[in-house]
Amino acid sequence: MSHPHLWHPFTQAKTASEPLRVKSGQGVWLTLADSRQVLDCISSWWVNIHGHAHPRIAAAIYQQAQVLEQVIFAGFTHEPAEQIATRLVQRLPGELSRVFFSDNGSTAVEVALKMAYQYWHNQGEPRSRFLAFEGAYHGDTFGAMAVGARSPFTAAFNDLLFQVDFAPFPATYWGDETVAQREAEAIAAIEQKLAQGSYAAIVLEPLVQGAGGMRICRPQFLQQLQAIAQKYDTLLIFDEVMTGFGRTGDWFACTRAAVEPDIICLSKGLTGGFLPLALTICSEKIYAAFYSDDAQKALYHGHSFTANPLGCAAALASLDLLTETEAAFRGLEARHCQRLVHLVDHPKVEHIRCLGAIAAMNVVTSAQPGYFNQIGLKIRQQALDKGLLLRPLGNVLYLMLPYCITDAELDLIYTGIDEILAML
Ligand SMILES: *Cc1c(COP(=O)(O)O)cnc(C)c1O
Repeated sequence: MSHPHLWHPFTQAKTASEPLRVKSGQGVWLTLADSRQVLDCISSWWVNIHGHAHPRIAAAIYQQAQVLEQVIFAGFTHEPAEQIATRLVQRLPGELSRVFFSDNGSTAVEVALKMAYQYWHNQGEPRSRFLAFEGAYHGDTFGAMAVGARSPFTAAFNDLLFQVDFAPFPATYWGDETVAQREAEAIAAIEQKLAQGSYAAIVLEPLVQGAGGMRICRPQFLQQLQAIAQKYDTLLIFDEVMTGFGRTGDWFACTRAAVEPDIICLSKGLTGGFLPLALTICSEKIYAAFYSDDAQKALYHGHSFTANPLGCAAALASLDLLTETEAAFRGLEARHCQRLVHLVDHPKVEHIRCLGAIAAMNVVTSAQPGYFNQIGLKIRQQALDKGLLLRPLGNVLYLMLPYCITDAELDLIYTGIDEILAML
């Protein structure tokens, strides 16, 4: 039975099936209370990049907890936070050098929006508009909702969201012949907007829009976008909450695309999926606009658990693991592709795409595509019957795998997908 006092996220309790009780997790496998084993094909909402319960991260948290579990981060600092900052700045493109902590992806985006907005305010040349992308998802707090696409999830709140302009996102897939044309159109539309208005920043999910349906764009598009952002002196915010830490086959989407944003948001994979922690990292140029004798120019934002030492310790251990297993996240794309080619002519799938640890396809359906398309629920149920945790976004079937996945496990997943497609 579902619990009389619990309220689950993104769930219509009345029509949803009972939540599955999880007993434990190990590597890519979850063990349910009824002893069933389920292969976690989505890294549990995209966070467990090394799989579940990695002993190295568990040990790091335990050790840190015995020394310093939490301390106020205003007026105080600590080594785990300093180490995270130093190590990430080394990994990120040159300009990104100031690290601000928060707790989750949505707040990392809120902080980025505030930084960008106040950057212009502090210099006495206020800019009030943001440019975002159709299909975007940046989180569920109000600012994050505002720069995300209007959707059934935001419908009840649309009147409260500040005005944002949206540009087309030139999503592409295998065999797409129109992408260059659509990129050019998107860039032209964006340039027209930038030329007219004074935008504080452009905000987007680089290379992959996640929750919007695993929509992948080409690096060329981001490079062109950077060029016009610079031309019109607008800040570029990369929401890498999902794409960070190996997801796209490189350390970050910005490094894979060879683009340098002014601000980057990181969270999901940061602690290897152990603890909630997030970062907003900006360029020295932005930091300088806040650095002043004027108290009013400070960034007045913070959270009770800012830079929680346990989260930092988990993140440091996760960074160690990532460094040691770099070949694994770099090699996953080719392993996906090897198996995806067999689906190219499948009558029930279209728009196959793949980037790093992410593989996705649209399942052909006669019903309206979108999040509420029932085929997603059907696939989820059939997958579970085969011991696979899949959670399609409407008719978009995707995999977002932990980097420790073995070839045998990959084969299990793709065989399962074949069988599921045959039953639809
Ligand atoms: C998940 C996600 C967020 C929100 O992160 P939360 O930790 O769920 O608040 C923001 N941006 C992107 C790109 C995401 O995938």
